This record gives sequence, C-alpha cells and structure tokens, in this order.
Amino acid sequence: MEMRKPSARDFPGLCARYNVKLSPYTTWNVGGVSKILFTPFKRADLIAVMKWIGDNGMNFYLLGGGSNVLITDDVLETPVVLTTGMTGISARLESGVVFLDCLAGTSLKEVLSLSVKNGWSGLEFAAGIPGTVGGATAGNAGAVRGSIGSVVESVTAVERDGSVVKWNASEITWDYRSCSLFEKTDRVAHSVTFRLHRSELGKVAYSVKAAMEDRKTQPSVSRTAGCVFRNPSGDSAGRLLDAAGCKGMRVGGARVSASHANFIENIGECTARDILSLALACKKMVQDAFGTLLRFEIKTIGIEDVWNAPI
Ligand SMILES: Cc1cc2nc3c(=O)[nH]c(=O)nc-3n(C[C@H](O)[C@H](O)[C@H](O)COP(=O)(O)OP(=O)(O)OC[C@H]3O[C@@H](n4cnc5c(N)ncnc54)[C@H](O)[C@@H]3O)c2cc1C
Repeated sequence: MEMRKPSARDFPGLCARYNVKLSPYTTWNVGGVSKILFTPFKRADLIAVMKWIGDNGMNFYLLGGGSNVLITDDVLETPVVLTTGMTGISARLESGVVFLDCLAGTSLKEVLSLSVKNGWSGLEFAAGIPGTVGGATAGNAGAVRGSIGSVVESVTAVERDGSVVKWNASEITWDYRSCSLFEKTDRVAHSVTFRLHRSELGKVAYSVKAAMEDRKTQPSVSRTAGCVFRNPSGDSAGRLLDAAGCKGMRVGGARVSASHANFIENIGECTARDILSLALACKKMVQDAFGTLLRFEIKTIGIEDVWNAPI
C-alpha cells in the first residue's frame, strides 16, 4: 500500500519525523532508517497517531528504550512509534498501598530510583533492567526475584482506532516474558499503574543491591540488548550456549559475550545482519549439541520472517 505522508493537520503535536536513523534509539546501536517516526509526547498526540495509522489501514512498530529489539539495516516503510517522549510519574497513597501512575515512556530505572528513595517496595527485582515502563510491561520484564506483572495494578492503552482502554490486573494474563495485552502490535501502552507497599529505606536499598549482585556475570558496559534467547523450561539458555561452545564466537561486528553466552555484543561497525547470523549459528549449535530448540527473547523490527525461520 502506498503510504500517504501525514500532513500537519493530522497531528495536534509536531510528532512526525521523516527518514530518521534508528540505531541511536537502541542499546545495540544497530538499525536502519525509518521512513516515518512518530514521537508523541502527550496522550492526545498518541491518539492522533494511532487514529491516523488505523484510518490508513497501516501496521506499525513500537519502540521504547530499544533495549530488547533488533531493527533491520534496511529502510523501514512501516511507521515506527517511539514512546520515550511520554514520561512522568505520580504517586498516591491509599490505605498504606502506594500506587505509582507512570507514563509508558518513563524509564524503569527512574521509577525504581523514586521507589528506593521513598522506601517503597515491590520493584527491587527490576534493578539493572534498562528500558521503559511500556516495554517492561509488554514483555513482562523480570529476573530471578520477580517480574513486572506481579506489581501491575492496571494498564491504560491506546488502540489502533484511537480509543483509550483501561485494563485492571485481573483482566491481564502474564507469562514468561509476555503480557496478554501486547501479544500483537495493535495497541500502545500509554500508562501503567504499579502497586507497591511501604517498607524501610534500608530494606529496599538492600534488596536492590542483592538484585544487582545477581547480574555480576552479565556484560555491563558493552552494547547489548539483554538475553537473546528465552530460557527453555527448567534450564538456562546461557548455560546451553556456553556448553555448546558459543562464547566468544564472532560474525562481523557482533560477538557472543565472553562473560555470559546469552548476550551478543556490538564490538564496532556491527549490523543487524551480523547479529542475526551469529544468533542463528548459536541456535543451531545448541540444537546440534543438545537437541534443544532455543526461542528468541529479542523482538524484531523489519526482520520477523528471517528471525523466526526454522534453522
Ligand atoms: C544490559 C541489559 C540487561 C537486561 N536485563 C534484562 C532482565 O534482567 N530481564 C528482562 O526481562 N529484560 C532484560 N533486558 C531486556 C530489556 O531491557 C527489557 O526487555 C525491557 O523491558 C525492554 O524495554 P524497552 O522499553 O527497551 O522496550 P523495546 O526494546 O523498545 O521494545 C521491546 C518490545 O516492547 C514493545 N513495547 C515497547 N513499548 C511499548 C508500549 N508503550 N506499549 C506496548 N508495547 C511496547 C515493543 O513493541 C517491543 O516488542 C536487558 C537489556 C539489557 C540491554
């Protein structure tokens, strides 16, 4: 379908940009050019963007902190909606429960910092997880000590037709790195309310420190996008990749981390093709060695068919 360029009249805010390089918006620092990038700041902007997308019968991609996505090196015709302009947190206390209303583009780190400063407990497990509240909710981000779904009170999203819908926790199903509301890209989380409880400053800070200790084996300074593969039931993808001999393997500017085999690092001049080839080679090595078919945790923009193709 021929893409109609949106006109200024379509949007109340100046939130459409053209031919924008996406690599700076990802932690891998990889990705081609987006023909049209929407950067809504207010809810009204997001509603207008979604309405325009819906009215034109278009698909779209979503980008939060870009810490769990691999974007094609090629030009992307499908519009991308970048959520990081929609930020803000407000807290309210009701009968000893702390409710944090967070706009979806707010960084998880900021929400955690506020919680630590005030001695609010519940999100400590998320220490060290980059990205936004929206991305964490869509992927039920988590670590050994917990995951986002357990502290979500409600989610408000904008649908493809521009309507705004709120879901309470009881209407949402959470699974390992998935949330029933966002299995398909047809709505955008606009805000998420977390339910935390009051605790002691020292206790919360201690739990955060413990959660950070768990990450000691992960590369912390290189450009990565977190774990490439999901853990298979009852096992660890990192352990399997390590045992299959993947650590240190390299394709172009992509290398399997020497400290954690489930992380691929951009070691310079890296392309999405390099990452893709390396990831597929690792997947095959694990299957050949152990018969285990690893599944990707990383989401893709513009390369779904290659990423999910059987090896
Ligand atoms: C060093 C490092 C460590 C990490 N450790 C962990 C970890 O311990 N646990 C873990 O779970 N993850 C981890 N990650 C991965 C990543 O940080 C999380 O998955 C994070 O929650 C992704 O958020 P994001 O905003 O960056 O999402 P993005 O990468 O921008 O997007 C990821 C997905 O979320 C969707 N999405 C984004 N915003 C919205 C929205 N507003 N509404 C609906 N859908 C949306 C996108 O469509 C996409 O499919 C790590 C990453 C790095 C780089």
